[in-house]
Amino acid sequence: MSPVASNLQIDSARLWETIHETAKFGATPKGGVRRLTLGPEDKKVRDWFRKSCEAAGLEVHVDALGSMFALRKGRDMSKPPIGLGSHLDTQPTGGKFDGVLGTLAALEVVRTLNDAGIETEVPICIVNWTNEEGSRFAPAMMASAAYVGDFTTDDILSRKDAEGVTVGEALDSIGYRGEKPVGTQKLSKFVELHIEQGPILEAEGKTIGVVDSGQGVLWYDGKITGFESHAGSTPMPLRRDALASLSEIVLAMESIAKKHGPNAVGTIGEAVIAKPSRNVIPGEIAFTMDCRSSDAAIMAALDKDLRAAIAGIAARRKVEVTIDLVWHKPPTHFDPTAASRPAPVTMPAISTPSCRRRWCSCPARTASATTNLRTRRRSIARQAPTC
Ligand SMILES: [Zn+2]
Repeated sequence: MSPVASNLQIDSARLWETIHETAKFGATPKGGVRRLTLGPEDKKVRDWFRKSCEAAGLEVHVDALGSMFALRKGRDMSKPPIGLGSHLDTQPTGGKFDGVLGTLAALEVVRTLNDAGIETEVPICIVNWTNEEGSRFAPAMMASAAYVGDFTTDDILSRKDAEGVTVGEALDSIGYRGEKPVGTQKLSKFVELHIEQGPILEAEGKTIGVVDSGQGVLWYDGKITGFESHAGSTPMPLRRDALASLSEIVLAMESIAKKHGPNAVGTIGEAVIAKPSRNVIPGEIAFTMDCRSSDAAIMAALDKDLRAAIAGIAARRKVEVTIDLVWHKPPTHFDPTAASRPAPVTMPAISTPSCRRRWCSCPARTASATTNLRTRRRSIARQAPTC
């Protein structure tokens, strides 16, 4: 019987060093990392990761989409392991921590257990998912999505990058098309430590939070049809201005999201005037809407209020507005037992100027888990670490 460990501490200096060791694969002059999935730098970090896992006594295997699984045996091998991990690929202007923290923290957990001579009841499996970032191949998180059955392996293997290279060809070029069919490695739970991708923890002066849910998402494609007319000769009361109508919709979206806040956000991130001209009143605009909440009832209310507001604006301004819901992802709620029992996590103190770039992983954004911003397709549970 293994000894019962209480408040077992990781070696934070060793984790810090390990993170910086991987940062040399794809290092950029200003201290960031450019390590696109399945490229030569990704191969280097994967080779390093495999070697480090094997040195820690883990058995490494790779699935048909290149996701890496490093297994530490448990006392009861009839039970599926607990998965720990994240990803080692980065955005083109990525940082040292996004994804890397979760993968290498998992390795640190295993090293700590090894040092303490602890055998766990169930096995532990560290996972490095292929292409979580989605910057070279779309969609993001494609290998983990295939793992839970959202895509077939063949579908993902045929996806191409901007140069026309398929995922399958890229896997072969770095030698990481594994033999195990996707989904073969079962996991009972999945725990991911991740840097925060929003500003909330930083603004509140906190170092870590526990993700209790993934936001639900509503994506709409919208179109406004008014009437193009002369900017000089059309009196204001007789206009059917698509852009002025969109302006009202933008403000309506903002106030509706605020009304249902703080657990609601709404964004109009794209708008294209069909035939823009300085002296023509815009007659047609295509636009998108993105609404999110981790509460299904709030999502329904956002949809209802938005449609009502848009109908009112369209009638008053005598324009036609069509709204198509093109994606509806319900919220995901994580295992409340694990989410309610976070253990203290010791990370090195970090002090640098703050950074607001979404994908940046500069040190100002580390040492915290995400609060709620990752949109995940995985149906397996994901929580901040409890180990
Ligand atoms: Zn990430």
